[in-house]
Amino acid sequence: MDDHKYIIHGRPIDRLLDISLGELLLMILKVYEDNVILVDALTNEEVTGKMLLARGICLAKWLKSQNINLGDSVSIISENRIEFAVVPIAAFLLGVTVAPLNPDYTIVELKHVLSLSKPKVVFCSEKTIEKMTSVCADNLFIRNLILFGDKNYSHEKIIYFNDIIKDVTEIDEQFKAVPIDTKNTVATILCSSGTTGLPKGVMCTHDNMTTYVDISRMIMTHIVENDDPSDAIIGLTPFFHSFGFMLMFLNIIRGKKMVVIGRFKLNVFLDTIVKYKIRRLIVPPPVLLIMLKNPLTNQYDLSCIKEIRCGAAALGKEMEKELKDRFKVENVSQAYGMTETTLGVLTTEAKNKAKIGSVGTLVPGMMVKVVDEEGEPLGPYKEGELCFKGPLIMKGYIDNPKATAETIDKYGWLHTGDIAYYDKEENFFIVDRIKELIKYKAFQVAPAELEALLMTHPSIKDCAVVGLPDDEAGELPLAFVVTKPGRTLTEQEVKKYVADALSHQKHLRGGVIFTDEILRNPTGKILRRILKQKAIRL
Ligand code: AMP
Repeated sequence: MDDHKYIIHGRPIDRLLDISLGELLLMILKVYEDNVILVDALTNEEVTGKMLLARGICLAKWLKSQNINLGDSVSIISENRIEFAVVPIAAFLLGVTVAPLNPDYTIVELKHVLSLSKPKVVFCSEKTIEKMTSVCADNLFIRNLILFGDKNYSHEKIIYFNDIIKDVTEIDEQFKAVPIDTKNTVATILCSSGTTGLPKGVMCTHDNMTTYVDISRMIMTHIVENDDPSDAIIGLTPFFHSFGFMLMFLNIIRGKKMVVIGRFKLNVFLDTIVKYKIRRLIVPPPVLLIMLKNPLTNQYDLSCIKEIRCGAAALGKEMEKELKDRFKVENVSQAYGMTETTLGVLTTEAKNKAKIGSVGTLVPGMMVKVVDEEGEPLGPYKEGELCFKGPLIMKGYIDNPKATAETIDKYGWLHTGDIAYYDKEENFFIVDRIKELIKYKAFQVAPAELEALLMTHPSIKDCAVVGLPDDEAGELPLAFVVTKPGRTLTEQEVKKYVADALSHQKHLRGGVIFTDEILRNPTGKILRRILKQKAIRL
C-alpha cells in the first residue's frame, strides 16, 4: 500500500528517545544545569537549566498536591514570558497535558477553546487575567488561575505563580517523572481549525514530540557541529502556536539560549539581534516583511545574521531574494508544517542549500505523497493535495472523532488541504490552499467561525468569509453578506460586529461585500474559490 512508486519515504529515524518528555527533561536539564536557557529581552532576567528544572519540579509537586494528575490538563494564556516554559516542564513530568492559548482571544473565543481541553488550572499574565476572571464566573472545570508576575489582583481563584515556586533554587533529586504510555499520553493540545469548521484541539503525544527531538538532531547535525556555545535564538514566535512552542521546547532540549520577546516591537527585536549577535533568525514571514519595509532597520548593523529560517506561512520568492540581498545572507529557507504534524515536515536540512521558492524536502521517518482528486499519488512536477503519514501525525482532534476521521484517512494519511508539487530532487513547492483556512500574518482564521458569528446578527440572512490575498498579511478576512429583506446594514456595522466578539487577527480587514446570494454547489457547500476570485476582481 505504501510502496507506490510516487510515495516518498524519509530516511529512517535513529530513535534514541523512547522515553517520556518528563524523563527526557530530567536528564537533559541536569546536563545543562549551568547554561542560561531563557533570557527576558526587556529585563535581562536569566533562567539557567538548573532553575528551570528546580521550578518545574516544584510546580509539578504543587499540581500533584492539587490532585492534578496524568490525563488532566492545564492551560496557559499568556504572551511569551520566561515563566511560560516552567509550565510544560511541570506538566510533562506528571503526564499532564498542556494547552497554550492565544492571549489575544476574546472572552467568546476563550469559552470555546477552553471547553476543548477543559483545564483544571489556567496560567495567566497580567494582560489576560481580567478576561479569565470573567470566563471563570460561569466555568465549572477551572479551579484556579495562576498569575505570572507580581501585580496585585484580588479574586478568590487567583494564586500567584511566584508564591508556588517561591525561592526554590535546588533540584529535588528524589523527584521521578510519572511513568506513562508515551505513544498515547497527550503532551499538548494546540488549536487549529484544520481543513474545515471551527477551531479544534490538536492532540500531540509525548512520542510525537520526542520523535521531533530525534529528527531535529538528525537534520541539524551541521549546526550542532558548528555550534558556538554563546549562540542564542530569539523566542518571538508565540509559544501558543506549534512553531513557537516547539522552537522553545527544542531549544531547551539543546541546552541553548533563547531570548524571549513578549510582544513584537521592531526596536526591541532589532536591539536583541545586535545585542545577542543572533546568527540564526527563526521567525514567521510577516516579521521579516516588517524588517524589510521599516526604515528603522537601516539604523542597525545586522551583519551578525548568517541564516534566516521561517515557517507557518508562505515566504514569497521575491521576499526570499530581497532578504538575501539586503542582509547579505546566503542561507534563507522556509519549512512547511501544520499544528497537526507536530512541527515542520518539509524543511531544508542544515547541511543543504535551500532551493528558491521551495519549502524543502521530507524530514526523516515520515512519508509524503501528492495526490490527484481520485487520491492517486502523482509524480514530479504534478500539482495535487499534500498528504503525510508517520510518527509526527497528531493523535487526533480532542473529542472530535468525526473531524479526525475526515483529516486522517483509514490508512493513516493526513490530508493537509494544501496544494503542492515536487521536483526531481524531491524539493517541495506549495502552490495553493484548498481548505477553508485563512492565514492572516501566519495566524489561523477559520472562516466557519466568522460565518457562525455573522449568522447570529439579526439583519444577516446568509454569509461567506474568504481570504483576500494581501502582500503584507498574506490574506485578509473578507465577508460576503446577504441581508434579510427589509433590513439595512453598513460595512462598518458588520465589521464592528466581528470586532466586538473576536480577536484582532480575525477582524474583517479585507472588507464586506453585500450580495444577493452566496454561491453554493448543489450539496450546499460555499463555492469559496469563485467568491475569492470575485473579491480579487472587485
Ligand atoms: P498552522 O497549523 O497554523 O501551522 O497552519 C498550517 C498551515 O499553514 C498549512 O496547512 C499551510 O496552509 C500553511 N503553511 C505553513 N507553512 C507554510 C509554508 N512554508 N508555505 C506556505 N504555507 C504554509
